[in-house]
Amino acid sequence: MHSFRYVGSRLQCEDVALADLAAKHGTPLYVYSQATLTDHFKKLSGALAGHGLDQLVCFAMKSNSNLAVIRTLADLGSGFDTVSGGEIARVIAAGGDARKCVFAGVGKTEEDIAFALKQGIYSFNVESEAEIVRISRVATKLKKIAPIAVRVNPNVDAGTHSKITTGTYENKFGIQFEQIEAVYARAAKLPNLRLRGLQMHIGSQLTDVTPFRLAVTKVAPLVARLNKKYGFDFFSIGGGIGIVYREALASADPQWWKTGPGRKVLTPQIYADTLAPLLKPLGLKILLEPGRFLTGNAGVLLTRVEYLKKTGKKHFVIVDAAMNDLIRPAFYDSYHEIVPLKKKGGVQVSSDVVGPICESGDYFAKDRPLPKVGEGDYLALLSAGAYGSVMGSNYNSRSLAPEILVNGKKAAVIRRRQDLNDIWADEVTAPWQK
Ligand SMILES: *Cc1c(COP(=O)(O)O)cnc(C)c1O
Repeated sequence: MHSFRYVGSRLQCEDVALADLAAKHGTPLYVYSQATLTDHFKKLSGALAGHGLDQLVCFAMKSNSNLAVIRTLADLGSGFDTVSGGEIARVIAAGGDARKCVFAGVGKTEEDIAFALKQGIYSFNVESEAEIVRISRVATKLKKIAPIAVRVNPNVDAGTHSKITTGTYENKFGIQFEQIEAVYARAAKLPNLRLRGLQMHIGSQLTDVTPFRLAVTKVAPLVARLNKKYGFDFFSIGGGIGIVYREALASADPQWWKTGPGRKVLTPQIYADTLAPLLKPLGLKILLEPGRFLTGNAGVLLTRVEYLKKTGKKHFVIVDAAMNDLIRPAFYDSYHEIVPLKKKGGVQVSSDVVGPICESGDYFAKDRPLPKVGEGDYLALLSAGAYGSVMGSNYNSRSLAPEILVNGKKAAVIRRRQDLNDIWADEVTAPWQK
C-alpha cells in the first residue's frame, strides 16, 4: 500500500501536496514516500519472519539508488543486492553496511571483485565458472577468503516481459541447473573460497506466485544436498515480486486489496505463505532481493503540460518530462497511470502523453483516456519509484531530474536539479582545437 492519494482535490504524498512541491522545485520532479518504503519493507520481511524464517531482505538497489532511499532501508536493517563496485560504494556513502551486501552480475571486473573483498561483503553471487576462477585468484592475491554463492538458472519461465525474464536457458544469467553440483565440486578445490550458499532470480514484475513456487520446489532439494556437503549459510530466492501499475492510484485504499475479483496481485503474505513451508526445512538463512516491490509504488514523477496539439487523428499532451527521465514506456512498453495533481472530473479525452525529445519512442501513454488538461497543469506519473530516476540520462542535454523525499509533513531535496554546466563538466575540446 502506498501513500499517494487525493485529499480533497489535491494529490498528496503523505501529508504534502504534490502541486506545492512542483511549484517550489519545478518539474520534472521525482517524489518518494518514506512511509511507503518503510511499509513495504516491513510487510515483506514481516511476512517471512512470521513463518519463523531467518531472513535478510537485500534491497536490489539498481531499482532506486538514491542515498536517502538506501539510508531509509539501511535504518530498517536492510541488506543490499548490488551489481557493481559503484553500488557497493554507494551503500557505504549512504551509511549502509557493506557486510550486508551481495554482489551480482555477469561481468564483474577484477577491480570490482578486489574492492568488494576489501569491503568484506556478505557474498558474491557468481554467474559463471570463469568468474569463480577469477574471484579465487583475486582473493588469493589479497590474502582474503571470498564468500560465494552460485546463481542457479532453474529454467523456469517467469511469464513476464522478455526484457525482464532471467530464469530460462535463453538468458545470459546464472549456471544451468544440471551443471550446478559439478561446478561446486570444482569450486571446492579452488583456494580462498568459501561456498556460502546458492542464489537464484527468475525475473521481474511477477504477479503470480506460481513461477516462484515451481522454482523453489525445483531448487530446494539441490540446496539441501549442497548444504550437506559444503555447510551453507544461506539460500537467496532473488527478487521479482510484481507491483500494481494499472490501478496504482486505487490501490492506495486498503479496501482495494480486499475486494475486486480477478485482481492479479502478489502480496507479501501470499508470497510468504506459499514459499515459507518449502524453505523452512532447509534450516538456512533466506535472502530476498526485492527491488521494484520496495520502491516502485513509493515514487511518482511530476510533470507539467507544455502544449496541447491536435493532428488529424490524435490529441497530444506534450509534457516537460521525457524518456531521459523515465524510459520504461519506451524500453519495456510499460504502463504508468497518469493523474492530474488537481483532481478533475468531466469528460475524458483519449490522449497521447508525449515528451519533448526528438524520438517517436518518447511517450508515456498512447490513446489514454485523460481528463481535459491545459497548458501549465501538473500531472503525476505513478509507480515511477523503481527503474525510473536510476535509468535517467542526459540525452538531448537535459539535466537529471531532482528527487524529493517526503516524510509526513516534511519534504527534503535528496538530489538537486543538475546544473547544465555539470552535464558537460567532464568534457573538453581536443588540444588541437585551441
Ligand atoms: C534486478 C534484480 C533483482 C530485483 O528485481 P525486482 O524485480 O526489482 O525485484 C534481484 N536480483 C537480481 C539478481 C537482479 O538482477
